[in-house]
Amino acid sequence: MNPTGNPSPTGDSFPNGPAPLTGHSLLAGREVPGTGDAWYAVAAATGEPFGPPHRDASTEQVAEAARLAAADSRAFRALPPEQRAAFLDACAEEIETLGDALLELAAQESGLPPARLTGERARTCGQLRLFADLVRSGTALGARIDTGPSGTDVRLRRIPLGPVAVFGASNFPLAFSVAGGDTASALAAGCPVVVKSHPAHPGTGEAVARAVTTAAARTGMPAGVFSLLVGRDHDVGLALVGDPRITAVGFTGSRAGGLALITAGRSRPVPIPVHAEMSAVNPVIMLDGALARPEQAAAPYVASLTAGAGQFCTNPGLLLLPAGPAGDAFLSAVAQAMKATEGQVMLTPDIARAYTEGVRRWEDVPGVREVARGTAGAGPYTPAPVVLECDAATYTAHEDLTGEVFGAAGLVVRWSGTDELLHLLEELEGQLTATLHGTDADRSTALGLLPVLEERAGRVLWGGWPTGVEVCHAMVHGGPWPATSSPGATSVGTLAVERWLRPVCYQSFPDTLLPSELRDDNPLRAPRQTGAGLIQGA
Ligand code: NAP
Repeated sequence: MNPTGNPSPTGDSFPNGPAPLTGHSLLAGREVPGTGDAWYAVAAATGEPFGPPHRDASTEQVAEAARLAAADSRAFRALPPEQRAAFLDACAEEIETLGDALLELAAQESGLPPARLTGERARTCGQLRLFADLVRSGTALGARIDTGPSGTDVRLRRIPLGPVAVFGASNFPLAFSVAGGDTASALAAGCPVVVKSHPAHPGTGEAVARAVTTAAARTGMPAGVFSLLVGRDHDVGLALVGDPRITAVGFTGSRAGGLALITAGRSRPVPIPVHAEMSAVNPVIMLDGALARPEQAAAPYVASLTAGAGQFCTNPGLLLLPAGPAGDAFLSAVAQAMKATEGQVMLTPDIARAYTEGVRRWEDVPGVREVARGTAGAGPYTPAPVVLECDAATYTAHEDLTGEVFGAAGLVVRWSGTDELLHLLEELEGQLTATLHGTDADRSTALGLLPVLEERAGRVLWGGWPTGVEVCHAMVHGGPWPATSSPGATSVGTLAVERWLRPVCYQSFPDTLLPSELRDDNPLRAPRQTGAGLIQGA
């Protein structure tokens, strides 16, 4: 029963799925009811509660999850790479086994359309398999063998840090949540994971956690390798980050949430790294050549801005457009495309409210004018997309304009001359992405801007739109503060594994005492960097 007194719309079970949902935490494969007050999943479209009651994990349960993770940490990292890879593959298979029921539940909780969630599931499972391949390849071990100037035998490999706490974001209930990139990369590194479930999609989180737990049992993992903690109160997450057995944190979400956890991680007696992927406005710079065909440039901008109700961390929230007639023509085309848009269901009622307040904050700044607005969708949490405009001086003078408004709101800032454009870029905070639109004729301007863009963003695009993030070896989804707290890292792509590893050097060790990947006969066939260059698996 939900708080309305009626049976919950989907019953208290996972619709058509293999295992009933309980609303409990999962500690090393064991179901543990929480001790906090009952709360419920909320249907994003209506704001109605549904599903089983969820109760936050107690402080003791948080500590128990960390203890179990630490207890099995050494056993997990000692497993042969093939077994760890098989576990990651099995996680993907078990998530797929949940079928469309998982997508239906995620759609009800998040308001995201089934097509988007289908793609997100594929990305999540593809990501798990990519990390499985990485484990098999042995490259993450980072083995190096060399002789120092004095002839000393020196060998290096990377070992996992230990138990990792993971916090996912509301806007990717699969790909940046329970079995998302942070979890996949930490498990690939050999770190047990304790996830703090996201209260915006608690049922989806539980279903995926069960899939991971099944995969762990099926592939012979030590049980403490994975736990899920139910937590709507911030105390649950803060207790987890504060637990002395947690060695690192992966966070995806808002700047406020990231800052709270970074502070918690830093203020422990033993500080730990908190890899927080936070928000950005992802500047898109329109150079003169890009404005030759305004309609062709405007429609994809509006499509990228409004996709998924604009709820992407890579949403192009800031567009830098030349002042003058060519820019005006582009903006007219934007207005036309924008007026045809309709608001979509946002992830939670609170996020819809925050969007409306954020747009109002922008509108209240003197010098900001509306370019165009779409129409609100049906239902209470479907606010209208909007594009606003101001000049460069207004933008740089008002801090309220520089932050993210999470949703389909775009700010267009008009610039006059490359000096002003450069000044705008120099003033920007760290970003996840920066995009240049132009033609060959803009080559020298682009080359002049590139050093600033590289310094400001983790990913620089030539043409296209930043909202799609390719999961592959060369992707960087990161960037300087405050886009992330770890400018040297990425949370998407195989490089993400490095956040959870630490190099250890073995000096003058006899071969028989060395880890396999550093032995002379290299039984794991791990690639190794040697004094003679990179040796591939020999
Ligand atoms: P959020 O409110 O920060 O929540 C993320 C997680 O952190 C949740 O589990 C949340 O739990 C927890 N949390 C938040 N504040 C906390 C605090 N003060 N103490 C302890 N735990 C706290 O973010 P969201 O609304 O889910 O996601 C939307 C945001 O994420 C947007 O800003 C978007 O741009 C960003 N995002 C970034 C990326 C990226 O890769 N950089 C990717 C996706 C989304 P509670 O819900 O209980 O507060």
